[in-house]
Amino acid sequence: MQVATGKSILNGIAIGPLRIYKKAETQTAVTSGLTPEEEYARFEAARVKAQEQLGGLYEKALDEVGEENAAIFEIHQMMLDDEDYLDAVKGIIDTQNATAEYAATTTGENFSAAFAAMEDAYMQARAADVKDISRRVVNILSGQEDADMLAGQPAILVADDLTPSETVQLDKSKLLGFITRHGSSNSHTAILARTMNIPALVGVDFDDSWDGKLAVIDGYNSCVYIEPAQELLATMEEKKNNDLKQEALLQNLKKKPNITLDGKEIKVYANIGNAGDVGLVLQNDAQGIGLFRSEFIYLDSEDFPTEEQQFLLYKRVVETMAGKKVIIRTLDIGADKQADYFGLDKEENPALGYRAIRICLTRKDIFKTQLRAILRASAFGTVSIMFPMIISVREVRDAKETLEECRAELQERGVAIGNVEIGIMIETPAAVMLADELAEEVEFFSLGTNDLTQYTLAIDRQNPKLDTFYDSHHPAVLRMIKHTVEAGHRHGCWVGICGELGADQTLTETFLRMGLDELSVSPAAILPLRKKIRSLDLSKESEA
Ligand code: PEP
Ligand code: MG
Repeated sequence: MQVATGKSILNGIAIGPLRIYKKAETQTAVTSGLTPEEEYARFEAARVKAQEQLGGLYEKALDEVGEENAAIFEIHQMMLDDEDYLDAVKGIIDTQNATAEYAATTTGENFSAAFAAMEDAYMQARAADVKDISRRVVNILSGQEDADMLAGQPAILVADDLTPSETVQLDKSKLLGFITRHGSSNSHTAILARTMNIPALVGVDFDDSWDGKLAVIDGYNSCVYIEPAQELLATMEEKKNNDLKQEALLQNLKKKPNITLDGKEIKVYANIGNAGDVGLVLQNDAQGIGLFRSEFIYLDSEDFPTEEQQFLLYKRVVETMAGKKVIIRTLDIGADKQADYFGLDKEENPALGYRAIRICLTRKDIFKTQLRAILRASAFGTVSIMFPMIISVREVRDAKETLEECRAELQERGVAIGNVEIGIMIETPAAVMLADELAEEVEFFSLGTNDLTQYTLAIDRQNPKLDTFYDSHHPAVLRMIKHTVEAGHRHGCWVGICGELGADQTLTETFLRMGLDELSVSPAAILPLRKKIRSLDLSKESEA
C-alpha cells in the first residue's frame, strides 16, 4: 500500500479505481521519424475518425438540446474539410518533416490567431473552434479519446490540473472523486467539487504507476491510499457508510426552520453552478438559490450562449424552485474562468484584470443578451439579479441603466417580466469602503468572501503555495463583513454571504451576532449548517 497526502477539498471518503488523465498537448513531438507521406496518412486517418465523432455528437446534441445547439458540430465538420486548413497542415508536415500532432496543433493555433484578429464577431468566435478541431485530431492521434476523461467507467480522476470548464464537462454520475497535482483549495475547481459533494484532494504528487489501481480518498485526513490493505479498506468502507447514515439523519431536519434556540432566524440558500444542480438544492431543502454562478453556462458552451438558450436554462431553474428566490449572478468570467471564444488576452495579473462586470460593461452585446434572458425568466418565479466584482457606484448605475434598456426592449416586444430585486456582490475592499453609497443603489448585498479575502490579504486564491497564508478568519476580513452588514442595514439592504466562508461552522455564531440575514452555501452544506444554527443560543455569552 502507498499513501500520499494533499489538501482536502471536502470531508468524505471515495473508493474506486484511479484513472490518470493526461492532456494531449504535453506529449507533442515536433519532428517525425516517418516520411511526410506516412505522417500525412496518420493525420488523414485521425481526421476521418474525428469527422465520425463529430457526426455522432451532432446526432446526440440534436436529440438532447435541439438543432440550434447541435449546429456547432456541423461547423466543426466543415472546418475539418476546409482546404486552406488541410493545405496548412500538409505544408507543415512537408516542409518541417513534422509530426501530424505538431502540424495539427500549429495550424490550429495559427488559424485561431488569424480569426481572433478579424473584425467580424462570427469569425472571432471561430478562433476557439479551429483550436478545438485540431485538439480533437491530436487527441485521436495520441490515443486520447475525446473529452471522456473517465473513459466511461466510474473512477477517481487523477490529473495534473483541472480547469473549471473541464470540471463542468465531466460525467458526474461516473466521477467518484478527484486528485490533482496543482490547484488550490479556494479555486473554482475546488468549489465545484464541493457543490457536487465529491471528495477531492489537490496538491498530490502522483505517478503513472497509479493508473487503474484501487484507491481510497480519505478527505478527513487529507490523504489517498493506493492499493489499501484489506483491513484499511474495510474501515474506510465503514466510514463511508457512516457518512451516508449521518446524511440520512440530517434529512430529519428537512422543512425545519433555520432558527437558533433563542429564536433568531437566518436564511440558508444554496450556491449552484448550473441548472443540473437544482435537484441537489431541493434534495437538501434550501430556502432559495443565493448564488447561481451563471458563467458556468458560458464555460460549458462552444460559443456565446444565445438569449433563447440562456432563457430556457434560467426558466428551468426558476420554475423548479417554484417561487423560492433565485439569485442569478451575471457573467463573472475571466481570471481562472476562461472560455476560448471570448478571445481574452493573456494578462499578467488576471485576478486584477479584465473580468466579470468589467467585461459586461464594455461588451454590452454580451451583457444585454444575458440580462434579457434573465428578465424573461423572471416572469416564471422569483428572480434577483446580482452584479459581481463591483468597485464603484458608477458601475452599478451603468449596469442598472443597461438592465432598464433591456426591460424597455422586452416590453416593446410585449414580453412578460416579473419583479426583479437587484443586488451586488461585495467582494472588493473598495465595495466595502463604499458600502453606504452602494446600499443606496440596490436592495441587497452578498459578500463574496473568496475574492474579498484574496483582495484584502493580497493573496492569490489560485496559488496553492499560499493556502497556509489564506486566513479566511483574518480580523481584517471579519471586520469588513461586519462593516458591510451595518452599512447595508442602515440603508434598508439585506446582507448575506455567498463565499465559502458562509459554510464555516466555527463562524456561524459570529455571523448570527453580526446580524447577517442569509448564508448561501454548497447544497451539501445546507443541512449540517441548519443543525449548527438550531444548536446555538445567542442569549448566552458568546463562545466564539
Ligand atoms: C466569492 O468571490 O466569494 C464568490 C462567491 O464568487 P466566486 O467564488 O465565484 O468568485
Ligand atoms: Mg468572486
